[in-house]
Amino acid sequence: MANPVLPSSGVLSPLGLDAVRLSPGFWGDRVALNREVTIAHCQEWEEREGWIGNFRGERPRRGREFSDSEIYKLLEAMAWADHPGLPELAETVAQAQEGDGYINTRWSGSRYTDFEWGHELYCYGHLIQAGVARLRMHGEDRLTQVAVRAADHVCRRFMEGTETCGHPVIEMALVELYRVTGTERYLEMARRFVERRGLPALAEVHFGRGYFQDDVPVRQAQVFRGHAVRALYLASGVVDVAVETGDEELLKAVEAQWERTVARRTHLTGGMGSRHIDESFGDDYELPPDRAYNETCASIASIMLAHRLLLATGDVRYADLAERTLYNMLATGVALDGRSFFYANPLQVRVPAVPLEGVNHAAEGGLRSPWFDVSCCPNNIARTLASLPAYMATTAADGLQIHHFTPSEMRYGDLAVRVETGYPWDGTVTVRVLEDGDGRIKLRVPAWASDATLAHGGTVRAVTPGYAVADGPWRAGDELRLELAMSPRWTFPNSKIDALRGCAAVERGPLVYCAESVADEPPLADLAVRVEPPVEHEADGVVQLEVGASLGDSDGDGWPYSASQNGRVDASDARLRLIPYHRWGNRGPATMRVWLPI
Ligand SMILES: [Zn+2]
Repeated sequence: MANPVLPSSGVLSPLGLDAVRLSPGFWGDRVALNREVTIAHCQEWEEREGWIGNFRGERPRRGREFSDSEIYKLLEAMAWADHPGLPELAETVAQAQEGDGYINTRWSGSRYTDFEWGHELYCYGHLIQAGVARLRMHGEDRLTQVAVRAADHVCRRFMEGTETCGHPVIEMALVELYRVTGTERYLEMARRFVERRGLPALAEVHFGRGYFQDDVPVRQAQVFRGHAVRALYLASGVVDVAVETGDEELLKAVEAQWERTVARRTHLTGGMGSRHIDESFGDDYELPPDRAYNETCASIASIMLAHRLLLATGDVRYADLAERTLYNMLATGVALDGRSFFYANPLQVRVPAVPLEGVNHAAEGGLRSPWFDVSCCPNNIARTLASLPAYMATTAADGLQIHHFTPSEMRYGDLAVRVETGYPWDGTVTVRVLEDGDGRIKLRVPAWASDATLAHGGTVRAVTPGYAVADGPWRAGDELRLELAMSPRWTFPNSKIDALRGCAAVERGPLVYCAESVADEPPLADLAVRVEPPVEHEADGVVQLEVGASLGDSDGDGWPYSASQNGRVDASDARLRLIPYHRWGNRGPATMRVWLPI
């Protein structure tokens, strides 16, 4: 079974890359572009930056202390994509492994001298994940040998003691290696890393121990906090440990943390992590649109976590958040040409960014960049898109559950189906049965789909958010048709989110929309919209929307406060065009906003 996550128990099991094939469509196109363009793009940049040369012993060593992890993420992407460049790159990596399994191009010679910032175990985590991908897609080879030797080294060095890494990821990597090899010490090592955290295990840093989730033990935490990628990778590993050790209390702790985080610390796009300074979650309801950091990697980590919680519990809310994050964060993170990327994903950009050549030190969003000096996001996008088919559907004893709708073919036991749809532009999802078979087919009805029907066997019935269910037996040619009403809808923020008060946003289906202004288009600075049904337009297969608005461009009278409640002047009657948020920033330097003042 070719899956990035394959728990040995849980309510649902994932359907792997060997059972799901994506066809041309929203995600199929992106997965193909990733395989054909993005993977090679990442390799070219890693070679150019010298990060691959580090493994050949080229000196001086180049890149940040964790740059090895980028090559490992790329290897994972190559493994899932069955990319022909993998063996050669794996051979280059193998040259740097030492006799006892240690491998790190930055710290060789001064091993394990900085657990807070050294990222050695973090790098192993990504190496092991690449090794797991290769084992599942191909079987043993040079890359899997390197990964297993590294994991064995980690177990020998760290099984006893109190040490752990400032940046989690090794936890979920070791559990997955246990799942694929059956070697129990990997699970035990992961469990110990989880339990050590918060005792505390790391030194105080100026961001505080909460930065790396070392402020309280995992089971006592109330909410995700600190550095968002760290927090969400850790939580993913905790779910994995809880599932494999049957630790219900631990699983419940993460579910409660997720629930509170989604209720209070998550942007409309699914983005997580408000603060730039330490890339952290902010306080509850600290969700500013313009200063939202929302690292692309944090959204990928959130998808990884939601997928694990879905498998463990079968609760459809996790798939709903994964969908929101897939369409509004993952799809936003990479340009339509597959060669440039967002690191930060704000919901408002006030000043058009200056086009950047090469490495973007700012990583502040505004324009996608072909590379970054910390280039976690491009490689993370590459490995996620390469394994994306494994996130689409699950199975249980009674049959197949389709969670994400994109043109595809799926096969599970007795069931073989083809999904035909223009989703997310169109709300019709047709599931065609390809062979005679039996079993229950469930189609996720997203939380936003207040008006939905399922047509099956000559009858049409209303279905509500959760699952639409249809039972076999099936004959080849049978058809299920789910109709999700795709009307645009206005969304209003909880009044506790101070930064959004007085604003509204427009969503349609799973997509969040935004206003974008390039070059000589009207500016968005002095804007007010009328909350009335948006008008739809289709252009080049993309549904755009239009709302009534006042567009001005006024600086007021020299003082941005006034005695009257509405300080705006110079209003005009205009129509404001809205585009899907994931498509913004593809037309050149632009200003943008998701939340529109009413
Ligand atoms: Zn990143």
